[in-house]
Amino acid sequence: MTHELFRQDAYLREAPAMVAEVGEQGVVLDRTVFYPLGGGQAGDSGVLLLADGSALQIADTRKVKDAEGKPTALVAHVPAPGQEALLRDLRPGTAIVARIDWDRRHKLMRFHTTTHLLCHLVPQLVNGCSITAEYARLDFNMTDPLDKEALSEGIARLVAAGHAVEIGAISDEELDANPALVKSMSVQPPRGTGRVRTIRIGGLDGPVDFQPCGGTHVANTAEIGGVVVTKIEKKSASTRRVVLGFS
Ligand SMILES: [Zn+2]
Repeated sequence: MTHELFRQDAYLREAPAMVAEVGEQGVVLDRTVFYPLGGGQAGDSGVLLLADGSALQIADTRKVKDAEGKPTALVAHVPAPGQEALLRDLRPGTAIVARIDWDRRHKLMRFHTTTHLLCHLVPQLVNGCSITAEYARLDFNMTDPLDKEALSEGIARLVAAGHAVEIGAISDEELDANPALVKSMSVQPPRGTGRVRTIRIGGLDGPVDFQPCGGTHVANTAEIGGVVVTKIEKKSASTRRVVLGFS
């Protein structure tokens, strides 16, 4: 498996690692700071730095899929086109330094954390989510209209309050006993190890938001800065889409 360093520390920009395999799906490392596409959040881009100083450009990151198309515990770093010569230098055991495009990742973290704030402001189930470095969108399963300005004001208030964002974990049994913690109809909680990773925003007594999530987040809502609702769309009779952008 690939040790996913970003799960405990989303602020790690680079880490030394070893090539485990170079396959059709990309370069697999023994450990990585690159987040693979999942839970609606885009995969990271960046570079793999080789010992001779050259940089293999990574355009995207995905979970390696098995023959049936199911995601495995391996992370594939997908090279940008035209780097065959550098790829030929990589073998199992080659030491590299994996470095993400931090500016892009930090935008993803700011948007991702804001989607949790939206879950607090709009207490409805989520049936779709997409987080990119340019915009994010969250689809709520609801028929009532939403007010763009009121939501932007709500986000600004929660950002100004400077709530801590903390990573935790609960057992599969605790999650099963509290099904209301799962706010997404479209993304399954990250199970498989008996423990489910959780994200808590705000204090233990009255958290702003608490839900299972495997993504990358900022450590405090103040770090989100200027994020506003740019658009609200009626995607279907039972879906309201909230689109976020930087102000
Ligand atoms: Zn999250």
